[in-house]
Amino acid sequence: MPTSSGHSPAPSPSWTRVYRVLRHPAPAAEERVLLVAAHPDDETIGAGARLELLPNLRILHLTDGAPLERRWWGDPTLATREVYARFRRRELEAALALAGVGPGQLRTLGITDQCASEDLVALTRAMRDEIAEWAPSVILTHPYEGGHPDHDAAAFAVHAACRALRAVSGGAPLVVEFACYHLATDGTLRTGAFLGRSAATLRLTAEQRERKKQMLACFRTQQRTLSPFGISVERFRPAPAYDFSDPPHAGRLHYEQFDWGITGEEWQVRAEAALRALGLAGTGPRR
Ligand SMILES: [Zn+2]
Repeated sequence: MPTSSGHSPAPSPSWTRVYRVLRHPAPAAEERVLLVAAHPDDETIGAGARLELLPNLRILHLTDGAPLERRWWGDPTLATREVYARFRRRELEAALALAGVGPGQLRTLGITDQCASEDLVALTRAMRDEIAEWAPSVILTHPYEGGHPDHDAAAFAVHAACRALRAVSGGAPLVVEFACYHLATDGTLRTGAFLGRSAATLRLTAEQRERKKQMLACFRTQQRTLSPFGISVERFRPAPAYDFSDPPHAGRLHYEQFDWGITGEEWQVRAEAALRALGLAGTGPRR
């Protein structure tokens, strides 16, 4: 059974709910959860041990996990981008089957990997439609940390869709984040922990660790990418309010170390323009 350790977040209704939804035993059967992941494998990295505890779960992937450029593929010997995307889908289904999650629980927007931030307005509208259809009480997703532009796009779309929903109906699902990765101040890649703020740290049992190891092993084309990720704990927190026109942290972002076709500054310009187009400019936290 997972236990909490590490930071002791201040008790608040949203923290209480995070624990109620994610800790075993007594998974909250009445909660409908939408897990929004940028890539096939993010759900396993961030919340692999939680998935079997969530009876009303749908998982939405933004991308098919296959970038345009072959040099970024986990297996550059494959014939086409579409073939690589099919490999990634099969790996995903094999991993999730180990957690009792079937293909019928999966949805994908099918965007090309590395391109999720290209049209943040369309992405937010698609997210709003998915939320309207599944009607989740809780959304589990990425934090805004500059780890990958697609992760930040997922955070943007969830927050923007929820802000729009709140404006119309007065309510929106509770947004909970799973820890991903970001560039630490010493220039190293920090995995499985949040930037700055506190987290609920759920320690995996031996059985959960073994299953998560097997799930991660299913992503055969991603083994090099997955090697820095541990399996001993998973961390979660209620999402903070973000100003997406500000960088997630000072200095260089993790994805700016690679030639993925976008800088942090360009990402923020896209976010600002999308917030204006969606009528959400100025609805974020006050600076
Ligand atoms: Zn990812």
